[in-house]
Amino acid sequence: MSIEKKCPNCQEWTVWNRKLNDRCTQCNELLDVNRVKETEAYLEREKSNKRSDFYNVKETDGIFMIATRKIALFFHIVFGAISWFFIWMFMNAAG
Ligand SMILES: [Zn+2]
Repeated sequence: MSIEKKCPNCQEWTVWNRKLNDRCTQCNELLDVNRVKETEAYLEREKSNKRSDFYNVKETDGIFMIATRKIALFFHIVFGAISWFFIWMFMNAAG
């Protein structure tokens, strides 16, 4: 399903498949630059938010601290999976 969209760069009408990385057929510019930038910024943030040392169990940890770290890591992974799911939805069913 494609529709027409006015290119923000050259002001010509072009085919728009409502995809994140659609480009203008006239000038080859991205049609939705802001959304692409937002998504890239988000992915970049996710990458730099790699698991911190907090989740690594240390030899000096007591049983309570180990449990805390494991639970924290569990939630970290669950919420990470949920946000990736939304990113995926965002890219596939955009618009
Ligand atoms: Zn254009």
